Amino acid sequence: MLKTPGIMVIEPSSEQGKRRAAGIFSRKDSYLDAEAIKTSLKDIRGYTKNNCVPLLDQLKRSLEQYSGVKVTFAENAKNAASRIKEIAGPTTLVSMNKSNVVVNELRPELHAMGLNTHLRYFTEFNNFDVETFKKKVEDYWSVPGMHGRGLVESFEVRKQFLRLNPSEVRDYVAILGVNAASAEDGTLYFLQHMSNISKDLEQARKIILVVSVEKVLKDKEAALLHTRSMGIFGLESILLDLNPNPAEAYDFDQLPVLPNIQEREEREVHLIILDNGRTALLNNGYQDLFLCIDCRACARQCPIGKHLMVERGLVYSPKNYILAFLQGKVPPLDECLHCGRCEVECPVGIDVPTLVWKTQIEYAQKHGRSLKKRLLDDPEILAKMGTLTAPLANWAGSLPIVKRIMELTAGIHHQASLPTFHRRTFKDWFKGGARE
Ligand code: SF4
Ligand code: SF4
Repeated sequence: MLKTPGIMVIEPSSEQGKRRAAGIFSRKDSYLDAEAIKTSLKDIRGYTKNNCVPLLDQLKRSLEQYSGVKVTFAENAKNAASRIKEIAGPTTLVSMNKSNVVVNELRPELHAMGLNTHLRYFTEFNNFDVETFKKKVEDYWSVPGMHGRGLVESFEVRKQFLRLNPSEVRDYVAILGVNAASAEDGTLYFLQHMSNISKDLEQARKIILVVSVEKVLKDKEAALLHTRSMGIFGLESILLDLNPNPAEAYDFDQLPVLPNIQEREEREVHLIILDNGRTALLNNGYQDLFLCIDCRACARQCPIGKHLMVERGLVYSPKNYILAFLQGKVPPLDECLHCGRCEVECPVGIDVPTLVWKTQIEYAQKHGRSLKKRLLDDPEILAKMGTLTAPLANWAGSLPIVKRIMELTAGIHHQASLPTFHRRTFKDWFKGGARE
């Protein structure tokens, strides 16, 4: 039997109630709280940021002991997709998990190569039977109170795949973005919300595991903490994506089981280590993105996220967006309100709003500011023009043709309510006079 690295799947655990009861008999300070976890998390993520290259070398050496996994290093998404296409051979059906590296970075390249991809996470909702979907959401894990100690204790390794030798293999390829990898021994970690990852590990004929370089951690303990923290801090952000999307619906369980025993036993397991512009971040002022655990707590708080997620087909988080910009795939995040909510929520304290500014400034230095930016960045000028020309400005602003022109030029939606301008300003009113 070919040896593969251990794969740990972390899920919420119902054991937390028992632990709480047991806690009555033990010392209170023996428990980890959210702040203590944040401190440890910053340490282990900082270690990866400062030791990325040696950690990658160590991971490659650790994986050499596993005869059952073929390792590839891919510099960019195109190279990774070409390798995936090669591995997939004649099979074009692909299941993938909801990881940003797979969905945001690899998926467009895979589509361009003719592969047919589905996010099995969504097909787990019984292909969107509305009643079942609602029930699943209502029962969602019965996870205990958010942010409390119960939540901290709720994520544990529930499934271990020490050998990938299942009995029900189907003819499709699974591409799974790994949440954390231990450089010390090659163990891989996933956080699982539904049962999609376990099912893919049990059923797919070919398994392709994708580790982006910042997901390589020192050892098993660090990788486990990282992955658990994704659940602890990102739990509420899961709700952002519980949105039926029929385009993703595909029932992999209905695929016929491969009858050929040999074909089942010789399942291919591949591991792609993907850079895609990440190591360059260490030298260009964006190195703090290396601290990110991809919990998407920032996405939950971001007031503009939903719109971007839907329109641009991303697994959205402000951090993912910055990364996509740096990879040359999207314009800068002009919609950002610089409200700072993402930074407040981030368990590792990444100053996301400043990084958004940085992308905007760098883009403007290279390409100049768009007409929209020039118009909207200086509301004072707009307000002065409006008061000087009122009530004409109000009348013009109400005309459908003008609204359409403003939508095209300044990006102001034609249904948006515009402010009403007055000749008499607030200052004039306060002084008791009138505008000359
Ligand atoms: S600062 Fe920008 S990216 Fe961060 S939450 Fe606010 S709008 Fe979103
Ligand atoms: S940047 Fe966002 S996704 Fe990354 S760790 Fe901070 S909150 Fe989580």
